[in-house]
Amino acid sequence: MTVTASGTLVETLVDQYGRVHTDLRVSVTDRCPLRCTYCVPPSGSAPLPRAGALTSDEIVRVVRVAVACGITKVRLTGGEPLVRPDLVDLVERLAALRPRPELCLTTSGLGLAERAGPLAEAGIDRVTVSLDTLDPDEYARLTGRHALPEVLAGIAALPPGRTKVNAVMVRGLTEHAAPQLVDWALAQRLELRFIEQMPLGGSPWHRDDMLTADELLAIVRTRHRLTEAPDRTGAPATRYQVDDGPAHIGVIAAVTRPFCGACSRLRLTADGQLRSCLFATGELDLRAVLRSGATDEDVADALARCVTSKSAGHGIGREGFRPPVRLMRAIGG
Ligand code: SAM
Repeated sequence: MTVTASGTLVETLVDQYGRVHTDLRVSVTDRCPLRCTYCVPPSGSAPLPRAGALTSDEIVRVVRVAVACGITKVRLTGGEPLVRPDLVDLVERLAALRPRPELCLTTSGLGLAERAGPLAEAGIDRVTVSLDTLDPDEYARLTGRHALPEVLAGIAALPPGRTKVNAVMVRGLTEHAAPQLVDWALAQRLELRFIEQMPLGGSPWHRDDMLTADELLAIVRTRHRLTEAPDRTGAPATRYQVDDGPAHIGVIAAVTRPFCGACSRLRLTADGQLRSCLFATGELDLRAVLRSGATDEDVADALARCVTSKSAGHGIGREGFRPPVRLMRAIGG
């Protein structure tokens, strides 16, 4: 790491496999009003102690240092980021950083209709809404809340060109919703991305009977012609032009077509733990670093150490693979 004459930190976050890290996923809370069956086990999950959560000042500081280290894109996630009361203020502060990172938000869409405008004004550039079905009862069964109309209202309040919809596809649970979701997304001019279910602590997961991206694509192909779009290096989704275009859908096949070789992501949990991968077995306690009087150089050094520790791949399906102890909502999706 070097410190320039103007005091700017310069640290490029390159791991031992040459992957340059430009994306930081920041979980701003582990709390979420939904109980999606593939995300939360039937026994529920205890929330993290509030005192352990990073404050907005701490988050802004980490992102400021991360940006100086080459992070260009920051995704706010959770838990459900919209439950954080100071979210708009946090976004405004992150948008004031220089260089300004691209600011993205991943949300269930609950409470989005009222906050889409303020969030856009504060500086959110792109929003991804999670939505697995368009059937109101099925939505309630899947998430534990009768909230589909609220989610659809939230999506309607967003600019289509900057909005994506993510749908997790689970065999026997959501797979039949795929064709209707595609037709709806085409009509709404939204880009829809299907996500393979990952082993992250919700409903049971078995590699041999999970719904694969290929199976999902076969379902969509019964109604539409899909043409694979040219590769966009580093992007997790494989994109397909639908019929004659211009609409596309995407598939994020983290299990059957891992994109670890091009991974550029780091994660910060709501309680200040740095993770180099969703499936990392270790974490770096950045909160302890922050709360022990660390300098910006110490924070940059922690980011670099986390990147250096990153494995070549997530290892799903490999012998000895163990899912992370933390649930997805406590890591940040
Ligand atoms: N609450 C926000 C939301 O609903 O988008 C952000 C957090 S949520 C954990 C982020 C994403 O992770 C959602 O799209 C959710 O569907 C996805 N997700 C949760 N568990 C998953 C799993 N086991 N496999 C794949 N995706 C999962």
